[in-house]
Amino acid sequence: MEKGKRPNAPPKKGMGGKKPTDTTDPVKNFERWKKKYDKTKTRVKQEKRQKRKPEWLVEKESIQRLVNKYNEINAQDAVKFSDFPISKNTLRGLMEAQYRQPTEIQRQTIGFALQGKDVLGAAKTGSGKTLAFLIPVLECLYRQQWTAMDGLGALIISPTRELAYQTFEMLRKVGKNHEFSAGLIIGGKDLKNESEKIHRTNIIICTPGRLLHHMDGTAAFHISDLQMLVLDEADRILDMGFADTINAIVENLPKTRQTLLFSATQTKSVKDLARLSLKDPEYVWVHEKAKFSTPATLEQNYVVCELHQKVNLLFSFIRSHLQKKVIVFFASCKEVQYLFRVFCRLRPGVPILALHGKQQQMKRVEVYNDFIKRKNAVLFATDIAARGLDFPAVNWVLQFDCPEDANTYIHRVGRTARYKEGGEALLVLLPSEEQGMLSQLQEKKVPIDRIQVNPDKLTSVQQKLEAFLAQETEQKERAQRCFVSYLRSVYLMKNKDVFDVFRLRLQEYAASLGLAVAPRVRFLSKAQKQRVDPRKISEQVVGPQSDEEEEDEEELQPGPKCTILGADEEDDEDLRDLDLLKVVRKDVFSLEKGDQDDEEMSKKKPEKETKYKEAKKVLKRHFQVNTKVVFTEEGQVVQQWPPLQRTAVPQPEEDHTPGINVEEARERLRREDQEFDKLEYRRKVKEKHREKRLKEKAARRDASKQHNEEPGEAEEVEPYIEVDSGEEFDPSTLPDPDKLHNDSEEDNQSSPPAETRKRSHSDSSSCSDEEEEEAVGSRKRPRRQAASLPLDTGLSLAEDEELVMHLLGNRS
Ligand code: ADP
Ligand code: MG
Repeated sequence: MEKGKRPNAPPKKGMGGKKPTDTTDPVKNFERWKKKYDKTKTRVKQEKRQKRKPEWLVEKESIQRLVNKYNEINAQDAVKFSDFPISKNTLRGLMEAQYRQPTEIQRQTIGFALQGKDVLGAAKTGSGKTLAFLIPVLECLYRQQWTAMDGLGALIISPTRELAYQTFEMLRKVGKNHEFSAGLIIGGKDLKNESEKIHRTNIIICTPGRLLHHMDGTAAFHISDLQMLVLDEADRILDMGFADTINAIVENLPKTRQTLLFSATQTKSVKDLARLSLKDPEYVWVHEKAKFSTPATLEQNYVVCELHQKVNLLFSFIRSHLQKKVIVFFASCKEVQYLFRVFCRLRPGVPILALHGKQQQMKRVEVYNDFIKRKNAVLFATDIAARGLDFPAVNWVLQFDCPEDANTYIHRVGRTARYKEGGEALLVLLPSEEQGMLSQLQEKKVPIDRIQVNPDKLTSVQQKLEAFLAQETEQKERAQRCFVSYLRSVYLMKNKDVFDVFRLRLQEYAASLGLAVAPRVRFLSKAQKQRVDPRKISEQVVGPQSDEEEEDEEELQPGPKCTILGADEEDDEDLRDLDLLKVVRKDVFSLEKGDQDDEEMSKKKPEKETKYKEAKKVLKRHFQVNTKVVFTEEGQVVQQWPPLQRTAVPQPEEDHTPGINVEEARERLRREDQEFDKLEYRRKVKEKHREKRLKEKAARRDASKQHNEEPGEAEEVEPYIEVDSGEEFDPSTLPDPDKLHNDSEEDNQSSPPAETRKRSHSDSSSCSDEEEEEAVGSRKRPRRQAASLPLDTGLSLAEDEELVMHLLGNRS
């Protein structure tokens, strides 16, 4: 319609361009009118015809039009998302979420993914990898007109719950105009409730462990039609920590699916790719030729700082960045737990938050959302926050503890300087870590400079921490756990060029945490002893350490660590995901679409169970629940726990029953182990007291005997007493010490630092408790006997008295 134009207006002169229409000629006018009329008539006819077509057919035709364009995709020229043959629903979702132009990784991968190819995408942190796989996921299901009845069509696996949650939120945003159902399966919630909905879910975003639970236990979990598998943070998902879980999952997926892998530090391992049976994949390394592997807008520095100054450095840093949003990365949960509490009490002037794997899910989600909203805050976190999380406007990433390797470094710093924003990163290194870490970073093309800390600007908080600990025993225990946990994390690091626990000054470190005395670290003294024979180290780590590890499980420990600790995949995943989050957000775009054909599902049930059983078995091969293994010096296993304890547990009908409640079983075992631990602890405390009394008695007798002997001999006797009380019993390895006996506290704190003790035979420390008792006992017995005999000087009573008087006279 030519709106607003007067029909008989005279033609404009001298304007150039198109010749104005002559509206005075009636013949021409009629012809024009006729042409228009015919056009409109055809359009109306077409529309009428279209209206008669069922909606799905119209959609099918428009899909066909899109698919026809797939072969003409020209990624180089794509400037807007609409330059790709993408459905209107997706385009609208993108526009509404303010995504207009694709980023480089999106531009280069979307085309391949639409064409149905397997893709390995690598691009720096914050470069938009999430949309690079979400768009193809939506399009893939749209292309096939997937409905709720079709069940699971796409599976997106994330290494952590937070990342899965974030991806889910993004999917809800850009996919809201589609009618697919989507579910977040990240564990911690009622399995049954999830199981009931899972068969109607088209897109699942999950963590590996929870997914396997469902594959194993949810009969109606229909996975054979899966179209697309996505691994976000693929290198992490494929590393040792998740190996068995992923193998078990992949084994059960249909081979015909399309697979997309994304990460900032992509795996290139042929073995990994073979495991996923990729078909002729397209490798897209957006920044392969880039000078640096971290975002250009990120400024990176490091400082070298002694271990005992790190807490002061952190406090001083926070005090001088009160208006900033900061993430601080620590090596272990216990460090986060302790330092979070004391830093809150120190009132630095900015909100402090903590995110780690030992929190309940509610708390974790609350902290996550809280940190997103805040303009200035400091988040103390473990590596669960290292990968993928997209907190807006983070100014600083401070790595309080050295990252495990350069890849972890890259992911940690990637929490700032995201999508064109700027950011700063500071890495704190111990002098012993500097060289090894720097060469790794250089190799990975990380530009980082050293800066100095002005020692005058450091505020010491040690005295304040000491005061806090003096007031609260609970805090003191936290500090002790923090201490042990940090040392363990260093000890377990694979790269010994960077991490050397034996070079740490323990007493100073303890003092910097506010502890008057460094807690005894049993595994360290044993390792110290066995450094000469490295083969023994791995044995003793599995042994004595495992009982301490019970209360110090970490999330997202790198694979090798998990292997050393003997944790199985399921436990490992448990630590990462399952135990800690209690609520799962399972949301859908449109869930209320009627019931699924359960009958059809149940027909396929037996076949699935067999497959899942196999998957489960892979895990079970490594399944150990709180097993304590102790090795003798010769490397033989010592049976510490009565086998009755475990066999007495009524076992669920193992492989015959579909859907064993693994969580319930694990919980029960844990409770029973706790009970057993308590009894064991009581027994040890009693034994220890008895031993102490006997030793004190013996010591008194020895002392009185030594009045009659050479003065130097007393020195030799003393170590028996010291070692006896110290080495035989280590309360830090037992659970709930405060609940059972006050002595545990005493033991932990009053035990003098290892270096200050006299231990003439401390070599026996690698023995098991029983062994040690025996060894010490056998050496002790003759002495006790000697001490308990009446002192025979070979003189008469009167002569004895005279001798005693003489001796006393000499002393006074
Ligand atoms: P990566 O997975 O590569 O670390 P994300 O997918 O988390 O990066 O995206 C990083 C940030 O960039 C997010 O805040 C996201 O909303 C934003 N983003 C992603 N793609 C686009 C785009 N095409 N246009 C604008 N912002 C984008
Ligand atoms: Mg990402």
